[in-house]
Amino acid sequence: MANIKLELVELRKEFGELIAVDDMSLACEEGETMALLGPSGCGKSTTLNMIVGLEQPTSGDILIDGQSVLQVPPGQRNVGLVFQDYAVFTHMNVRRNLEYGLRVRGMARADIDREVAKVAAFLHLEHQLDYKPLELGASELQRVAIGRTLVTNPEILLLDEPLSNLEAEMRNQMRRELRRIQAETGQTIIYVTHDQIEALSLAHRIAVMDFGQLKQYDTAHNVYHYPDNTFVGSFLGNPPMNFVRGEFGHDGNRPVVAQNGSVIPVPAASAGAVSDGADVIVGMRPESMMLAEADDPEAFTASVIAVEPQGPETVLTARIGQSDLKLVVETGTQADEGSEIAIRPDAELLALFDAASGVRFKA
Ligand code: ATP
Repeated sequence: MANIKLELVELRKEFGELIAVDDMSLACEEGETMALLGPSGCGKSTTLNMIVGLEQPTSGDILIDGQSVLQVPPGQRNVGLVFQDYAVFTHMNVRRNLEYGLRVRGMARADIDREVAKVAAFLHLEHQLDYKPLELGASELQRVAIGRTLVTNPEILLLDEPLSNLEAEMRNQMRRELRRIQAETGQTIIYVTHDQIEALSLAHRIAVMDFGQLKQYDTAHNVYHYPDNTFVGSFLGNPPMNFVRGEFGHDGNRPVVAQNGSVIPVPAASAGAVSDGADVIVGMRPESMMLAEADDPEAFTASVIAVEPQGPETVLTARIGQSDLKLVVETGTQADEGSEIAIRPDAELLALFDAASGVRFKA
């Protein structure tokens, strides 16, 4: 296993009555990109500010390379923060911006020139060095902001919603650029975003937060495919995970969830720890359900209430009992509004959650 670069240990921040970060523990490996993902106000920036040293935790610890940094002043933690609003000096040209962090550290002129040339080449800014920030486009400005921090060779690069001011096309371009920076420098990156696509496309590991609590911390693949709770299932995915609430039971030997006379067969593996009569929620991703033959024993029936073609894929809305489900199917699939369809969920990806707590039953 790679070295642990950053560890948060029961990190907590209270603002008066408000618990902005609620005893959060996680470890980030060297060379990984970790995304802090969650809705506005869930505590992402507060967590980042504590790592940088701009906020003192109420309790808990922050370790970098195994050493607590709580007593280390902000400027000396060797972590580089890039804000969403670029934070470049508008009165200095690009070269002066890039060399600023090295000059304040008292680095020799020749070394500064070498490091600035290196980072400018790496970020494709060689031809912009004499320009002022106001003469640059949004993505160039963002690269200057990242370059100013990267040039100081931080242990951890912290990015707070770095792409939120960019147009969609620029955002894609900068995502590719960030992936390249990460791959070529092996830099440990902590990335704050409320955008699930950004987190899924950039991060090795995602920490999903809600109201200050860490709801799941796992690989991007696992938080998407195996959500620990209904919050994570609904926060990731577009359309999000479908939920059908019902009563768990058995139809003969088969585990099922029943709702208003409709019955969803559920795989025995996901039902291992559930008792008959339990109030549960079945979670199914829209793209992890297939249309099946009417007599398929692993399928359930639903009626199609909307068909929305979206190019190569079509989103079907189907009703079972009192719940509406979204399915993503190939365009051209035979399913007309008003018709009955049989739906077979992917047994491996179907999740069962406790209805009261929203927590997934683990087999
Ligand atoms: P956003 O994406 O909107 O920036 P966030 O997930 O980064 O949200 P935080 O900015 O960390 O969330 O805020 C978490 C909670 O703490 C919010 O309810 C916020 O209002 C509150 N909060 C943040 N800073 C302070 C402060 N200095 N004093 C009081 N409350 C604060």
